[in-house]
Amino acid sequence: HVSSPALLEVSSLAKAFGGNRVLQDVHLAIGRGEIVGLLGPNGSGKSTLLNTITGFEAIDAGSVRYAGQEIGRLAAHRIVGQGVARTFQLPSMPQKMSVIEVAMAAASAHHGFWETLLRGRAARRAEQAARDKATRLLDEFLLTHVRDLPASALSGGQKKLLGIVCALMGDPQLLMLDEPTAGVHPNLRNDIVQALLRLNRQGMTLVIVEHDMHFIREVCSRCIVLDRGHIVASCAPQELSSNERVLQAYLGG
Ligand code: ADP
Ligand code: MG
Repeated sequence: HVSSPALLEVSSLAKAFGGNRVLQDVHLAIGRGEIVGLLGPNGSGKSTLLNTITGFEAIDAGSVRYAGQEIGRLAAHRIVGQGVARTFQLPSMPQKMSVIEVAMAAASAHHGFWETLLRGRAARRAEQAARDKATRLLDEFLLTHVRDLPASALSGGQKKLLGIVCALMGDPQLLMLDEPTAGVHPNLRNDIVQALLRLNRQGMTLVIVEHDMHFIREVCSRCIVLDRGHIVASCAPQELSSNERVLQAYLGG
């Protein structure tokens, strides 16, 4: 097939914490419009891979290219500014801000601090735009009824939803989600699935760390499997169960 340049291309990436070599010689490419599942046993390096790609952890070696540009050594806020957003496995929320305030604050984090320099009418316009977008996204992610509660009072699942809302406030082209349905009530889970599929239909590329195989089969077109910091497979979800190296990763070969 015609190989258009990948949206995200990671080469020879390495990351260690002290003597613990958590990622070693990681190569991967994500095409525009893909929904890729990132799998692997606990501790295999999935969250660390997301952290290094999004600049939350510095890389030791290798490169990360996004839309043809090297982003491997940019600060996290610069990477967000390029259109790469992420959510966290365990979202933490500020104590004193309401749900809608947290979502609106995410907009200024994405758009950079220049907006904070706006005064008067321009500032009010920017705030109104952020409020409108937050209102729409909170509705889409079923948080309208809690929008004025303190964000810290939300359930674990609702915090995950708010994390997705915050990531979407910056209109990313690439969204990376760390276990979006873990601990989420089954009723909400299906709404998350539908929302992610809808975002993808609108053109967003998704990389999703997830353990739930049912979710993977429902949502992902391709899976990448990590085992002790190495990528050991890239295959369709239905091929996972017959892949030797995947079985070995989970059974501890
Ligand atoms: P996964 O998300 O696949 O469960 P992680 O990326 O969270 O795995 O962790 C991989 C390894 O890296 C683990 O051994 C973990 O203890 C270690 N690790 C992750 N983050 C840090 C950190 N900030 N400092 C030290 N060690 C870390
Ligand atoms: Mg993790």
